[in-house]
Amino acid sequence: MPGACAKQAASTATLYVADGYRAWLAPSAVAKAARLARAAAPLETGGMLLGQVVDGEAHVLAVTGPGRQAKHGRCTFEGDGAHNNRLVHRVWPRLRYLGDWHTHPGGHAVLSATDVASVRESLSPDRPELLELLLAGPPGMESVEVALFTMVRGEDAPLRMTGGGQ
Ligand SMILES: [Zn+2]
Repeated sequence: MPGACAKQAASTATLYVADGYRAWLAPSAVAKAARLARAAAPLETGGMLLGQVVDGEAHVLAVTGPGRQAKHGRCTFEGDGAHNNRLVHRVWPRLRYLGDWHTHPGGHAVLSATDVASVRESLSPDRPELLELLLAGPPGMESVEVALFTMVRGEDAPLRMTGGGQ
């Protein structure tokens, strides 16, 4: 039954890998980020990646929105720290903070120097590895290119993870 198969595929998480690091993105999480990306375009937006770590593999199950105090620019996005902290505590221990996501409307699916610096700042002994999900597309973000990066404490640069066939 083709209909049932199509539904099954749509609900399956997508695997991304880089140098032995493995992360899974739930399609519902990516879909929500894409929706928020369109709503904020042509300004950048973003939020947190929440999920679980199972056998050393990150499973991104949900994304959060930007929060009311977030600052959206054409080439910058700064999240709402208080909003994020409240959310992280509310969902713990069912979900944990795995990293962040943001958008590049009218830009490329590569992290800027500022992006890399801000991910690096978020790393700590408690958080030695973080994911960064980037959605790039035309200024209106009608279509998005999805790129996932992992940044590991002590390493110079984030690794772009491959997968998803996108
Ligand atoms: Zn950026």
